[in-house]
Amino acid sequence: MADFPLIFERSRKGRIGCMPPQCDVPVSDMAELIGNGLVREPAELPEVGELEVVRHFTNLSHRNYGIDTGFYPLGSCTMKYNPRVNEAVASNPSFALTHPLQPVEAVQGNLQVIYDLQSWMAEITGFDTATMQPPAGASGELLCLLLIRAFHRSRGEGHRDIVLVPDSAHGTNPASAARAGYRVQSVKTNSRGGTDIDDLKQHLGPNVAAMMLTNPSTLGLFEDNIIEICQLIHNAGAQVFCDGANMNAMVGVTRPGDHGFDCMHLNLHKTFSTPHGGGGPGCGCIAVKSHLEPYLPVPVVANRDGQYILDDNRPESVGRVHSFYGNFMMNVRAWAYVRSYGKEGLPEIAKHAVLNANYAQARLKEEYPQAFDRTCMHECVLTAKPLKRYGVRALDVSKRLIDYGFHPPTNYFPLIVPEALMIEPTETETKEMIDAFCDAMLEIAEESKEDPSILHNAPHTTPVGRLDEAFAAKTLDVNWSSYEDLKKADVL
Ligand SMILES: *Cc1c(COP(=O)(O)O)cnc(C)c1O
Repeated sequence: MADFPLIFERSRKGRIGCMPPQCDVPVSDMAELIGNGLVREPAELPEVGELEVVRHFTNLSHRNYGIDTGFYPLGSCTMKYNPRVNEAVASNPSFALTHPLQPVEAVQGNLQVIYDLQSWMAEITGFDTATMQPPAGASGELLCLLLIRAFHRSRGEGHRDIVLVPDSAHGTNPASAARAGYRVQSVKTNSRGGTDIDDLKQHLGPNVAAMMLTNPSTLGLFEDNIIEICQLIHNAGAQVFCDGANMNAMVGVTRPGDHGFDCMHLNLHKTFSTPHGGGGPGCGCIAVKSHLEPYLPVPVVANRDGQYILDDNRPESVGRVHSFYGNFMMNVRAWAYVRSYGKEGLPEIAKHAVLNANYAQARLKEEYPQAFDRTCMHECVLTAKPLKRYGVRALDVSKRLIDYGFHPPTNYFPLIVPEALMIEPTETETKEMIDAFCDAMLEIAEESKEDPSILHNAPHTTPVGRLDEAFAAKTLDVNWSSYEDLKKADVL
């Protein structure tokens, strides 16, 4: 694959792929018609046959790794399979061709999808109502904090300016709090991987506006003191937000609203089976208890006398967080997903997700011990620390997994676990697939002992090896260079 010539190398003078019709504008008139400065020199395009073009792009597309090509245990991201039926429903032209400016009478079906989901998401999470507007998990976090601030202000407590965040939290939590203008204080994790209640008590006070708590936590553990924690925070006059990105562990089984939370966000693009990755559209809908409802973003999709309406007349609203009605297609997919699983099916998602993660954890823990020795939820956080004595790090294990055909797990997160490998198999994988992944992980542990250089130089099977990932992402170079030049520059 690495030696596969790109399209410019395949070019041969005079080779032709297709025959466009002759240009019917006389070349001599061109400058007059479009202005002198706009006439272009003929572009230097590769001269190739159609088959070469097809092979070029098909080969490029195979360099992409996705859930449709293989196992993708990227912890915290819930890279599960998205049933094709959701796509079939979403591609129905009645949905796909809706214009966002159509009058409400013409989009009653679309509004019903949103309205149904609002109530289903509220029911699944144990809250009073929901809005589908935020386009990402982080956006849902920010919105919840804005609602919490509006709530405090309405009670004359606008001075509360601190948000507490556990030291294990996803980076979006402190970022959202800072974006909302709050000061962030970090709360410690205890020896069981839960919130350190003594440390929490130290932080609680009259200036705390909220705590953002992820349950199950980013350590893949259920917060076993959750009810007490919510009570402590409420007693201090603050609100509790649940980062619900890990809802895949709980859907249909237990509800954060019943644990004492005031609001939460959900990632439809994780739990409710819409494709994600690559920065595509998402939906970080939020669900809230009734005391936060007046502040929800406009418009609220409501039902008046059997007609769906967009209610803009909400004087206490924090305003919009997305144009029109959010990333609507995510809602269509989630609607189809919830309907196809039904009340009986939804708990099976969580049960199998948890079972699969515990199975992987049990198979791997000899070589890759658990960060905390407990039953995990939908993902397990292991450490590659024992391999350090062979000079091998979590990153090396992950890069070597690529050679075995697997997407690596999440590395070095949560930050409090040294050499973290965060594995989330999801409920959609078979036992055979999880076994194959665990076999590869165990084989890699053996390789570390016998010949760590195999790991240090991995991956061996990809067109490019190890990149400086931050540099590659920030200074992306999409210009073509000849294969020879790349070889000379030693980037292949
Ligand atoms: C994915 C994730 C988020 C953020 O969701 P985005 O849609 O990527 O903004 C927040 N918290 C946790 C625990 C997550 O896993």
